[in-house]
Amino acid sequence: MTYDSSNIFARILRGEIPCRKIAEDDYFLAFHDITPHAPVHALVIPKAKFTDAQDFHTNAAIEEIVGFYKGVAHVVDMLGVHAAGFRQISNCGANAGQEVPHYHVHILGGCKLGPMLSRVDASAE
Ligand code: 5GP
Repeated sequence: MTYDSSNIFARILRGEIPCRKIAEDDYFLAFHDITPHAPVHALVIPKAKFTDAQDFHTNAAIEEIVGFYKGVAHVVDMLGVHAAGFRQISNCGANAGQEVPHYHVHILGGCKLGPMLSRVDASAE
């Protein structure tokens, strides 16, 4: 997939639209999801242009990967969700329902989060 610089997270990174920022450094920006699915629902995105998890893990430089995931850990600490438990997920592509084609990690917490998946037809190909 070619990176589309008009995606909503690219626009947030450029400061064209606002976000409720949690933290940032050279490698990541973290902000609250506009439509939270839990009492705590944060998004962490890399500063550089990657379409999804596979693109990031395959093509990012080591320092970008380390910097990004250290950022995720820092945000988890800031949000205070580690002790009670939280979920860290990334939707990748159509089957996972990825809406925004700029790699991002969701951090969800603040309540019991229920089963990992609502329902999957395991027989589907
Ligand atoms: P995805 O479905 O791609 O894994 O997740 C995209 C997430 O981005 C969704 O949870 C959605 O609520 C969130 N989102 C979409 N547009 C905006 C926005 O303009 N601002 C913020 N803060 N979150 C957004």
